[in-house]
Amino acid sequence: MDLNTLYRTVIMDNYKNPKNKGLKKSSDYHFVHLNNPSCGDDMNVEILIKNGKVEDIRHDGHGCSICCSSASVMSDTLKGKSVEEAKKIIYDFYGLVMGKEPQDEEALGEAIAYMGVKDFPARIKCATLSWKAIEQAITEVEHEQK
Ligand code: ZN
Repeated sequence: MDLNTLYRTVIMDNYKNPKNKGLKKSSDYHFVHLNNPSCGDDMNVEILIKNGKVEDIRHDGHGCSICCSSASVMSDTLKGKSVEEAKKIIYDFYGLVMGKEPQDEEALGEAIAYMGVKDFPARIKCATLSWKAIEQAITEVEHEQK
């Protein structure tokens, strides 16, 4: 199996069997909705942060396979990380899909599968939509705590 086939498999597996899908709608969670009109992607995310740690991430939405699978990978990658680590991974992911060398390939985990997106600029927004939503959620939680 070549690397591209492996990456495609990661994306299709997460599209067909998404992890952490479905919202909790609990007041402990912080909710953000974002959409990507150019593709029709629509994404809701929830984050539960406790003591500077990402305790849980949930997502729900609809859109293309890149967008929906990326939400699953994002939730799985960031769950259990400290907020600071999570932010680093998010920025690393933005770089990755733009064609930059990742700072910490190991921390990105399955998210590395989206490196091929750099060759399809129209899909970058699809890949990053759920990541942008969770970044916004983290920022809003941090503001609330100040
Ligand atoms: Zn899309």
